[in-house]
Amino acid sequence: MKICGLQKTTLIDYPGHVACTVFTAGCNFRCPWCYSKELVLPELIAEQQEIPEEKILEFLQEKQELLEGVVICGGEPTLHPDLPEFCKKIKNLGFEIKLDTNGSNPKMLKELIDQKLIDYVAMDIKLPKERYATLFANRGIRADDIEESIKILKNSPVDFEFRTTCAPTIHTPDDFEMMAKWIGQDIPGRSPKYFLQNFRPGRNIDPEFEDLRPFDDEFFVAVLAKIKPFVSDSHLRDL
Ligand code: SF4
Repeated sequence: MKICGLQKTTLIDYPGHVACTVFTAGCNFRCPWCYSKELVLPELIAEQQEIPEEKILEFLQEKQELLEGVVICGGEPTLHPDLPEFCKKIKNLGFEIKLDTNGSNPKMLKELIDQKLIDYVAMDIKLPKERYATLFANRGIRADDIEESIKILKNSPVDFEFRTTCAPTIHTPDDFEMMAKWIGQDIPGRSPKYFLQNFRPGRNIDPEFEDLRPFDDEFFVAVLAKIKPFVSDSHLRDL
């Protein structure tokens, strides 16, 4: 695992848990609105100080009484072939694990679920299925893999949520309706929870996003009304 960050306590990243967050480096996507570019762009990753896995495990051992869960996020954690081994070590210390993923590696997602190595999954839905190929055309991202991950989660025993970061100039109200239909109705399985979260301008991968204004409240009221018929458990998440 290449780990480049540790947030020692979080009360908001793992629903119902006092947790810490481990940040893995490297991502196969390049979402233009991404505000974690130091965990995505190889030239910025190279400037990060790596935290040895043993240090994370030592920290967790010390915090066994205080923390209940560990959030593993990125970048994209499932790019690391040794993620299952890392999860095993964390589970052996008695923690529950939440995985944040972009859903591009259904094979590893299934392995983690089948081996009972994760307890909660937050999966990003970036775009309607038809648009994945346009935004990530040159990165070899397959919308069928994203769909496979949705299927796996909706038919698994783990708790999960889908979530979309809503980016001006990228997403239209119709996109949200298409995404909600995709995750809610088109794919059989359990009803999902679906969270929309507003875009944050800052140090985004595409500098053009740094000056964009996030969507306003009226936009979300209208979008939630459009998507609730497909996913009734849809919400705007404050960050
Ligand atoms: S938003 Fe997530 S999936 Fe997209 S580039 Fe950033 S870390 Fe990768």
